[in-house]
Amino acid sequence: MIDAVEVTKDLIRFNSVSSHSNKAVSDLLEEHLSALGFQTERVEYNDSAGINKVSLVGRKGRGDGGIALLGHSDVVPAEGWERDPFEPWIEDGRLYGRGSCDMKGSLACMLAAVEEYQVSDLHSPIYIVYTADEEVGCQGASEVMERSRLFNEYNLKYGIIGEPTLMQVVRAHKGMVTIRAVAEGKAAHSSTGMGRNANLSMIPFLVEMKAIYDELTTNEIHFDHEFEPPFADWNIGINDGGMPLNVTAPECVCTVNYRPMPNQDQESLTTRVREAAGRCGISVTIRKTGDPFVTPVDSEVIQAALQATNSEQTHTVPYGTDGLIFGSRMDLVVVGPGDIQQAHTVNEWMDLGQFQLAIDTYRTMIERFCL
Ligand SMILES: [Zn+2]
Repeated sequence: MIDAVEVTKDLIRFNSVSSHSNKAVSDLLEEHLSALGFQTERVEYNDSAGINKVSLVGRKGRGDGGIALLGHSDVVPAEGWERDPFEPWIEDGRLYGRGSCDMKGSLACMLAAVEEYQVSDLHSPIYIVYTADEEVGCQGASEVMERSRLFNEYNLKYGIIGEPTLMQVVRAHKGMVTIRAVAEGKAAHSSTGMGRNANLSMIPFLVEMKAIYDELTTNEIHFDHEFEPPFADWNIGINDGGMPLNVTAPECVCTVNYRPMPNQDQESLTTRVREAAGRCGISVTIRKTGDPFVTPVDSEVIQAALQATNSEQTHTVPYGTDGLIFGSRMDLVVVGPGDIQQAHTVNEWMDLGQFQLAIDTYRTMIERFCL
């Protein structure tokens, strides 16, 4: 018998902050999947820092259809905790530890949910996918989509992303586009007149980025009231390296984190960014992690999730998930244990009552799509 709380504690004890390798936690998850009779496949790569990352695909059963339970095994950094964030503890009906809520608790619930089904019970397969690097751009999910044999062998139409929603049914989230613009200058003592201050090239570019921000957040044309807030994130960062007052900055970087909404004209905005960069003589890189995903209310997976959670209302969320990647392939629902309010916080926790709710919901969904 899988005790989801105990398994969560085991998972928390691995420090799988995205900058570290998640190999050890994937090894343990693979042991569990194998013991449960799943075929497994490791999708490995080295990240941009050369760190080994392992996404894991498990499948039980064969053929088209079925359902995928999707989660990630990396966590965000944990600083400023009063206790060791990787040594879980239980207090007042809550499990504390980095990843308890986002989302190792959910990974454990998926294992507990699938344990009772034999291959002979299944007319369509159950998939469990545990990705690397969800918190830092979803490379693990991309690698699974591109390279996994198990994941791509049959036609799979439905997936559940087990991110924390307090078991509410989420059918859409915004997309993710990152912009990085770099102005070059030349460092010198500012009094000499010999330097070239990179900030001076950046300033007119920033004015244009601010104008776009103002439009997106105040002009109703860009709004989508299915979301809260109803406007796209356009978060501007500025960095000239913290030069001393009397040094001309040799480089200035502006970043924009853009979370497009469905039906938003991303192309016209990114064109404006490129044109502004051209006028200012600075270089710009625009990278799309993924489009927003929106699953229609009448999709079978949304209807099944509403029934399984005994609810009538669907929701949308402003944050992103591996749905940025998987959403291009299948109808997704985000439904998982824990409250997003506790994700990424100091002293992250999950209410112990959430575990059984998640296990029961995932079982009901599996029975609907696979039995
Ligand atoms: Zn997460």
